[in-house]
Amino acid sequence: MSGPKKGHGDATRIAHTGRGGTRHHGVVNPPVYHASTVTFPSLKALKDATEGTQSDRAVTYGRRGTPTHFALQDAIAAIEGAGSTFVLPSGLAAISVSLLSVLNPGDHLLMVDSAYAPTRHFCDTVLRTLAIETTYYDPAIGAGIAKLIKSNTRALYLEAPGSVTFEMQDVPEITMAAHVHRVATLMDNTWATPLFFKPLAHGVDISIQSVTKYIGGHADVMMGSITASEPWLSRLRHWINHLGLCVGPDDCSLALRGLRTLDARLARHQASGLKVAEWLSNRREISRVLHPALVNYTGHGIWKRDFTGASGLFGVLLKPCSDEALADFVDGLELFGIGYSWGGFESLIVPHDPRAIRTAVPWQTSGRLIRIHAGLEDADDLIADLSAGLARLAT
Ligand SMILES: *Cc1c(COP(=O)(O)O)cnc(C)c1O
Repeated sequence: MSGPKKGHGDATRIAHTGRGGTRHHGVVNPPVYHASTVTFPSLKALKDATEGTQSDRAVTYGRRGTPTHFALQDAIAAIEGAGSTFVLPSGLAAISVSLLSVLNPGDHLLMVDSAYAPTRHFCDTVLRTLAIETTYYDPAIGAGIAKLIKSNTRALYLEAPGSVTFEMQDVPEITMAAHVHRVATLMDNTWATPLFFKPLAHGVDISIQSVTKYIGGHADVMMGSITASEPWLSRLRHWINHLGLCVGPDDCSLALRGLRTLDARLARHQASGLKVAEWLSNRREISRVLHPALVNYTGHGIWKRDFTGASGLFGVLLKPCSDEALADFVDGLELFGIGYSWGGFESLIVPHDPRAIRTAVPWQTSGRLIRIHAGLEDADDLIADLSAGLARLAT
C-alpha cells in the first residue's frame, strides 16, 4: 500500500494519508507516541537529527512533534490540497499565531467585520498594544477592498461565511486585490472545512481551521491548524517554536480519528442542516434563515460558484419576541444542547447578538438571532423538536 495518488478524491485522501504503511506491524492507525525525551545512539546522530535538512521531521524532543503529530499534519495538508500544516493547541491559537507571523509593529491589518468574536478581541487588545492597527471591513466589499489598502497594510483576514451572521465573501476578488499590493491573506475556513472550500486554491496564503469543530468532530478535543506554503512557513515555524506551542499526542490521535470520517459526517450535516433550514424558512415565527445554500440567500451565488458544499451550521432570525418566549422555545428543546462550539455529532442551539461585535457595518435587525448546529440525529426528529419549540414560542 503506497498511499493516495495525485488525482484521488478527498475521501480517498482522508482514508489513506497519515498512515503507517508497512511500519508498526501493519496496524492501520499510527501509534500514539508519548514523548518528551528522545535519546540518540551517538553525538553524531544527535547532531544529524537536530541540524539536518530534514530537521522539521526529525524526532528530537516532544515539543517539536512526533510521528503521531506528523501523521495528522500530513492528513490535513492532503485535504487542504497544498502547503504544509502545523497543529496548534486551539483554533484561536492558530489565528493569533498566524496574525503575529505576518505583522510587525507599525503595520496595518484589514479584518472582516463578521470575524469570530475572539479574533476581533485579539486584534483590539494584543495587536493594539503591539502598535498594529486594525481596520474592519464590510464582508460584502469585494474588489472595493483595494480602496482600504494603505502603504503599511501587510495583512488581510477573511472568514466566510461568518460563523454567526453567515455573510459570504468574494474570496478570489478580495485576495486578488490584496496580492496586487503585496498584502498577505489569511482565512478562517472552519465553517466549510477544506472539504467544501480550499482557501489556498482561491488565492489565500494562510488557511486556518479550528480542528475543534468538524475535523475533531466529536466534541472532545481542542485544536487548530495552519496550512501555508513558503515564504510563510518559515515565519510560522519561528513563532510556533519560540512561543513553545505544542499539542498532546492523544489529541492528535483523536483529531486524526475524527478526520477519517469527515467526508461521511459532513454529507449528513449538510443534508440535515439544509432540510431543517428549508423547513424553518417556511415558518411564520421566523423572519429569515441565514444559510448560504438556500437559493434566495444573499451570497448564495458566491457560495455556489466557489464552495462544493455546506456544513450544518446556520443562523435563524426570529420575528421580535420576548425573552420569556425565547427561553420557552430554547429551554424546552429535547435534542438541541444549549452551548457554544459546533461541529460535533450533536445538535446545538445558542442565541447571539451580533450588534455588539460589528463596527464597519452595523447589524440592524429587530429580531433575535439564534444559531443552530444540525447534528447527526435524524433530521425529522430535529424538525419535530423545533416544531414543538416554535409552538411554545407562539403562545
Ligand atoms: C470555534 C471557532 C474558532 C476557535 O477555535 P477554538 O478551537 O475554539 O479556539 C475559530 N473560528 C471559528 C469560526 C470558530 O467557530
